[in-house]
Amino acid sequence: VIEIRDITRDFPLGQEIVKVLKGINLDIDRGEYVAFMGPSGSGKSTLMNLLGCLDTPTSGSYVLNGKDVSQMSDDELAEIRNKEIGFVFQTFNLLPRTTALDNVALPMVYAGYSKADRIERAKEVLNNVGLGDRMDHRPNQLSGGQRQRVAVGRALVNKPSIILADEPTGNLDSKTSVEIMNLFDEIHSAGNTVILVTHEEEIAEHAHRIIRLKDGMVESDTRKEKVNS
Ligand code: ATP
Ligand code: MG
Repeated sequence: VIEIRDITRDFPLGQEIVKVLKGINLDIDRGEYVAFMGPSGSGKSTLMNLLGCLDTPTSGSYVLNGKDVSQMSDDELAEIRNKEIGFVFQTFNLLPRTTALDNVALPMVYAGYSKADRIERAKEVLNNVGLGDRMDHRPNQLSGGQRQRVAVGRALVNKPSIILADEPTGNLDSKTSVEIMNLFDEIHSAGNTVILVTHEEEIAEHAHRIIRLKDGMVESDTRKEKVNS
C-alpha cells in the first residue's frame, strides 16, 4: 500500500531550515498493523501527516496504492485523503455542536453519498464502534473514550485503505486506552491496514510491527513472530 523512498521534510524557522525527516525508506503492505515509536520531536507526527496526505515531503517519493502523491496539489491530496485515508487524532477533533451521527457521516458528504445512504452507513459504523446507543449525543455529552470511538467511526466511514492514528490513546486513561486498542485490533482483524503512533510499549504491543524513529530517521523496524491474534 505504502512505498516511501528517501523522504525528507524540512521546515523553515526564521532564517534557518530545520531538517525534521532526514531520509526515510519504508514499505507497508496491505493488512499490516504498525506502531511508530520514538522520542518526542523525532518526527513521528510529521511522518504521519505525510502518510495521511495532510502534508507533502520536501524531497523523495511517496507512492500510495500505486499513485505517486508526493507532488500532488492540495485539491488532489484532499480527494486522496477522503477516499484512502482515515485519520484519528489524539484530541479527537470532532465538530462540537454536531451529533455523533453527523460527525461520522461528514466525510460521506464530501464523497457525494445521498443523505439516506449517509445516515444508514453512519448508523452501521457507530454500531460497529460500540456507540449504537449514543448516536444523537454531541461530543460534550460523551466521555473521552466515547469521543474517540466517534473519531474512529468517522475515520472508517468511507472504507479507507489505511487507518492512521497519532497517539489515539494519548488523552485517555489506561482502562479506556485498552478499550480503544481492542477496537483497533478488531479493525485490523477485519482486514484493514492500521498504523499508529504511541509512546507506550503496552499500546505498541498490539501492533505486529514496531518502527522506532530517532532524530528523523528509522532507528529500528521489527516484526513480531506470527501469533494467533
Ligand atoms: P511528539 O512525540 O512530541 O508528538 P513527534 O515525534 O511527533 O513528537 P513532530 O511533531 O513530528 O515530533 O516534530 C518533529 C520536529 O519537527 C520537532 O522538533 C518540531 O519542532 C519540528 N516541527 C514540526 N512541525 C514543524 C513546523 N510546522 N515548523 C517548524 N518545525 C516543525
Ligand atoms: Mg507527535
